[in-house]
Amino acid sequence: MDNGSVGGLWPPLVRTEYVIILRHCLKTTKRLGESMVGSIVLFGPPGAGKGTQAGRIVELTGKPQVSTGDMLRAAVKLGSPMGMAAKEYMDAGLLVPDEVIIGLIQERLQEDDAGQGVLFDGFPRTIPQAESLEKIAIVSSVISIEVPDDAIVDRIVGRRMDPETGEIYHIQFKPAPPEFEGRLIQRPDDTEETVRSRLDAYHTQTAPLADWYSERGLLIRIEGNASIEQVGKSVESAISRVF
Ligand code: ADP
Ligand code: ADP
Repeated sequence: MDNGSVGGLWPPLVRTEYVIILRHCLKTTKRLGESMVGSIVLFGPPGAGKGTQAGRIVELTGKPQVSTGDMLRAAVKLGSPMGMAAKEYMDAGLLVPDEVIIGLIQERLQEDDAGQGVLFDGFPRTIPQAESLEKIAIVSSVISIEVPDDAIVDRIVGRRMDPETGEIYHIQFKPAPPEFEGRLIQRPDDTEETVRSRLDAYHTQTAPLADWYSERGLLIRIEGNASIEQVGKSVESAISRVF
């Protein structure tokens, strides 16, 4: 008998060594499997740069971006009853009720492209939203882009969107090419007054989620008060550690 060597090519191994290798392989497969099918959450205050960094994460992981803000704006544009109700909250800088958001996410996660996990942008924003998400999806990591309040107001008030490409610009920090300038729009909720309520909502309802995810070992904090390129590098290194 061969006494432990596989096909005579490997050196003979004793039974305990096989068990150790097998355990290691199983652990690694589980970890990789979980992160590949798992979702990523991009977390941070309004204007932190979540939308700006999302494209790179989509490129790196192949996971589709799921932005509840974009979904709500699409519903507002359609003029659906849900969209009209949501608009009142959005214009006032308040969070849209959890039941509406959870319903939107449940529906979105049924779609074919969500099978290997998605990149959540702007969701979850409350602990009940995170608890509901836990029941329907695996979250592999939460990337928190940290920016102080005093930098947020300038970012939000100077934000401009290209309605044709969805690209996000800033009048000072990321100016659009001159040929696109004429078609840029400013979101109706991107005003100085609304920013204050949005920041209040962030601190009271959303920020506690950082500890919630940290307790679960999922939170990766990134310094967001830096150039778009520098934040991009930190995001890339966070992704390469997890995937
Ligand atoms: P920002 O990118 O500035 O953080 P979003 O586009 O994510 O803004 O959201 C715009 C508005 O849509 C929010 O101020 C809020 O009214 C509503 N909204 C978006 N996502 C959620 C959510 N997960 N829960 C509750 N309200 C949400
Ligand atoms: P969020 O999705 O978190 O609300 P955005 O990605 O829309 O934030 O960014 C908000 C505004 O700030 C945009 O106008 C964007 O061009 C600008 N911005 C994003 N990241 C940075 C950064 N690191 N430095 C300066 N401005 C930034």
